[in-house]
Amino acid sequence: MAEDPRDWEIETRAVRGGMARSPYGEISEALFLTQSFAYDSAEAADRRFGGEPGFIYQRFGNPTTQMFEDRLALMEGAELCRATASGMAAVQAALMGLTRAGDHVVAGRALFGSCRWIVSNLLPRFGVETTYVDATDLEAWRAAVRPNTKAFLVESPANPLLEVTAIGAVAEIAHAAGAKLIVDNVFATPIFQKPLALGADIVVYSATKHIDGQGRVLGGAILGAEALMTEAYKDLLRHTGPALSPFNSWVLLKGLETLELRVLRQTQNAGKLAEVMAESRKVKRVIYPGRPDHPQAATIANQMTGGGNVIAFDLGDRAAAWRFLDALQIVDISNNLGDAKSMATHPSTTTHRSMPEAERLEIGLTEGWVRISIGLEGPGDLSRDISRALDAA
Ligand SMILES: *Cc1c(COP(=O)(O)O)cnc(C)c1O
Repeated sequence: MAEDPRDWEIETRAVRGGMARSPYGEISEALFLTQSFAYDSAEAADRRFGGEPGFIYQRFGNPTTQMFEDRLALMEGAELCRATASGMAAVQAALMGLTRAGDHVVAGRALFGSCRWIVSNLLPRFGVETTYVDATDLEAWRAAVRPNTKAFLVESPANPLLEVTAIGAVAEIAHAAGAKLIVDNVFATPIFQKPLALGADIVVYSATKHIDGQGRVLGGAILGAEALMTEAYKDLLRHTGPALSPFNSWVLLKGLETLELRVLRQTQNAGKLAEVMAESRKVKRVIYPGRPDHPQAATIANQMTGGGNVIAFDLGDRAAAWRFLDALQIVDISNNLGDAKSMATHPSTTTHRSMPEAERLEIGLTEGWVRISIGLEGPGDLSRDISRALDAA
């Protein structure tokens, strides 16, 4: 009997899933840098446009992009994946595809800055009302529901303070209200958390983060069941054009091959460094989903299989946080995350500066917090660099 890739272990899916070889028999997946496709006859073109499988135009699909989509779908355990040019294109399309004027969206209030802009500024322009909730409070989700609520959006763990939402319980509340739950799974990656299996309807990724993981390209993805993906997103994505380029698809496809290896090693490093921070007298508080003192440790134990590579820690005030950043010699000051290179950022003056101060305080983001994304450098070197910077803080 032929092997079914859905029965493979995740390592095998990562390396061989979605592979569609050309007649040349290449070992490395081919890069089809082409906008359009030729048909054997006028009749063949007619059939293709009529729905016969095959490619038409890069905005609708491309063989290299499809290999990336099929591989990520297999790794996520999703029926279908559609790639987008960035994580934000995925979040925007995910929300637009589920809502129309007169609808209502509920979102966890700790969201990536641009996601907050879409929810706060863009959706209302098109007549979609929104409510923010404390995503860790199930009663708040329940209370926010209205008769016209069509979508819930949550990031878990959330940026930058890594709060974790009980995905299964929130999915139940969404479904009881007739709404769909969208989960931004960037921080957990497909390696540590499977929102669809927990009850979510749609998963979105910024593939820019761990999936590339080497600082090269932007990309994103929307995943879910085939029927919902087709109904909500097929025409939207074809006609609005957030297509991922074949070149970026190829880079991300190769990124998936080593995703698990990288994320596991980064997480191993992060666990050690969270310990270094917890032991420092300069650190007021450490939040790391891999530690038993995380505020939602019980939820994490239920739905995640690893803590990930991002740590948040509080140095008390802005001056101490900046002294820490300026004393780093190996770790870069940068706002990206999931990269092979470790990076640290001061969220309240960078990624979250456009968030009004009152809202920042609501999510607990005071000026002493630093967010660090742990990379693949040697743990001894990282520990020395971070310890020295903590001394300087
Ligand atoms: C980076 C990020 C995004 C946006 O992704 P881009 O690829 O930068 O557009 C969305 N959500 C989360 C949680 C992110 O970290």
